[in-house]
Order: sequence, then structure tokens, then C-alpha cells
Amino acid sequence: MVIPCYNEELNIPALTSRLFSSLEKLGRTFEVIFVDDGSRDRTLELLKQAAFSRPNVRVIELARNSGQHSAIFAALAASRGEVVVTLDADLQNPPEEIPKLLAKIDEGYDVVGGWRAKREDSLFRKIPSRIVNAMIRRATGVMLHDYGCMLRAYRRPVAKRMANASEVTSFIPALANQLAGKVTEVEVAHAARSAGESKYPFRKLVKLQFDLMTGFSTVPLQGIMGSGVVVATGSVLFGIFLGLRRLFPAFFHVTLEELKAEQGIFTLFALLFFVVGVQFVGIAILGEYVGRIYTEVRRRPRYLVRKVWSQRSEHAEPGEKLSTTTAAAGGNGTSHEGERAPSHEKEKTAEPKA
Ligand code: UDP
Ligand code: MG
Repeated sequence: MVIPCYNEELNIPALTSRLFSSLEKLGRTFEVIFVDDGSRDRTLELLKQAAFSRPNVRVIELARNSGQHSAIFAALAASRGEVVVTLDADLQNPPEEIPKLLAKIDEGYDVVGGWRAKREDSLFRKIPSRIVNAMIRRATGVMLHDYGCMLRAYRRPVAKRMANASEVTSFIPALANQLAGKVTEVEVAHAARSAGESKYPFRKLVKLQFDLMTGFSTVPLQGIMGSGVVVATGSVLFGIFLGLRRLFPAFFHVTLEELKAEQGIFTLFALLFFVVGVQFVGIAILGEYVGRIYTEVRRRPRYLVRKVWSQRSEHAEPGEKLSTTTAAAGGNGTSHEGERAPSHEKEKTAEPKA
């Protein structure tokens, strides 16, 4: 289980009790990895209490807020289970639905996504997400309904491939589909946020939708190209039409006086503005790609782990646990990522409270 938490102090008590009761019913061994994504409230403290009171809980404390997807990457890199399930901390995805996902995994799928058939979010959230979902379906050819649902299950190899993917701006569900063989979806229930407020202000949402759009296709670029060609051809044809009308007024049933009286200049202005507008959109989208290339080539670490908390209190050596994307992309960092964690475990009694 992998759960990113950012300022979720109000949800953690209900989350842990519902989560553990449904996981214990499964009759499988499990481990829960919470990621504290640089919360400024009591989230970390509550998570640490959970980790100290149960043997199968680890808490990854990130040094600063790096976003939901990066937090999940941090946990994926630390995960050890055969199947990795991701979940939101705000109880929008009921933990009681986990068995449904596992049943599909047992059927042989590599990735199982939740599909929020009845989604409890504002229209303001649902509409952009529908548009982007449709675009991604077209771009990736994988016919899933819901790329935004974070209640998902991955088999170990897929989780590992994702943790090793070197992109900085990744949208996890879409990435998983590209790295997995058999992908499916099950309908899951969806609830309104149980407490606290959404951690996605408008700005972050726009960025997220752009991550999804530019990260997995060049369709927007092709769209702009296409419309640019259409607009340009259109205005050339219109120009020819205007010229012919001037040269052969009789053929178009207009007189020279009528043509002079016509304030054609305004039509031209309108046309010009339209073309300029299209160009701006094109430049903006190009800029978006260029900006992303820039962030990718800088290869900044996606997240910084400050400490890992558990009953055994493995203390991460700061320099070494910094999972940078470069290390993951290097290839040889791949295999010992999983083995490295236990070797740092020091037998130390749990600290009662921070
Ligand atoms: N989250 C996070 N870091 C962030 C923003 C969100 O770890 O910077 C977590 C958050 O705690 C929650 C999940 O990501 O568990 C989904 O966030 P939220 O419920 O606010 O998103 P929404 O449901 O509004 O899309
Ligand atoms: Mg939510």
C-alpha cells in the first residue's frame, strides 16, 4: 500500500482504521507506506504514531512538498510487495474497494485502475479531466475511462519500472499503462473528500493536466500545425478571391464604386487578429514543450527523502537515500534500490514522539 499525505491530519485517524480493517480481512501479508509530502500540520506526527504502533507500517518523510505524483514515486522506490496499491489519503477512494483490484490482479493483469463511474467532485474538476482522458485514450490507444483515479494496483515489475523511469514530470497512471502488458479497470466507489480541502489549487490542476497532455503525446503540436495550415491556406484563398473581385468586378456583379465604398480593411484586420491569435497559442504550446525539455535535462531529484520512520526506525543516511532521477536512469542503480533499504536498518528503539 502506498499513500501520499499532504496536510491530511483530519483524515488520518479514519483512514488508518478503515484501511487496516480492510487489509487485515484480506488474509495476505501487507505493508503500508505513507509518504509525508512536506506537510505543515500534524500529519507526520500522526503517521509516525501509526508506524510505531504497527510493525508493517513505514513512513517516508520528504524534505519538502514535491507533489502527489512525486510522493508516490518515493514510495514506489521503497516498496517491496509483489503487488503495489496506491490510494489517496482523503478517503475519496474507499479502502474497502482494494479487494476488487486485487481480484483483477489475480486474474493476471499487470495494472488495475479504479474507474470512478460516479465521481464526487465539482464539475470544475470533472470537465477538464474528461477532456484530457479522451485525449489520452486517443494518444495511447489504451481504452481506459479514468486516468485520474489514484486507487490503482500494480504488479511488482511495473512498479519497479515506474520508479526507475527517469522523467521528472510524470503522470503515474498514464506512465503505468505504457510500462505494462495487461491493463484493465474496475469500477470503484468514490466519495466526497472526508475532511480538509483539496490540495490542488487551480494552478496545480492546470499543471497536472498539462503533464498528462504533453507527457504522453505530441497531439497538441500536430493540432496546432493542422489548424495553422488550414488558416494559412484559407487566408491565401481569401486573398485570391479579393484580388479577382478587384480585377473582374463584372464577373462578381459589383461595380468599382461599390468596391471603393467597401471598408474591406476591417475584414483584413479581423483575419489578421485571428491568425496572430492562432500563432500565440502555437507558441505557447511549443513553449510548454520546451520548458518541459528544460526540466527534464536539468535532472533535478524528483523528491528528497529526509527520513524513513518505522518500528525499526531505519535512519536514512541523508546523502544516500536521496533518490535522484539520475541514479535511477543510470541503469545500475536499478537492481540494488530494493536491497539497499534493509542494509541501513539500525536496531534502534522507536522514539515515542517527535
Ligand atoms: N497530495 C500530496 N502532495 C501534494 C498534493 C496532494 O501528497 O502536493 C496527496 C493528498 O494528501 C491526497 C492525494 O494526494 O492524499 C490527493 O490529493 P487531493 O485529495 O487534494 O486531490 P483531489 O482529490 O482534490 O484531486
Ligand atoms: Mg481528493
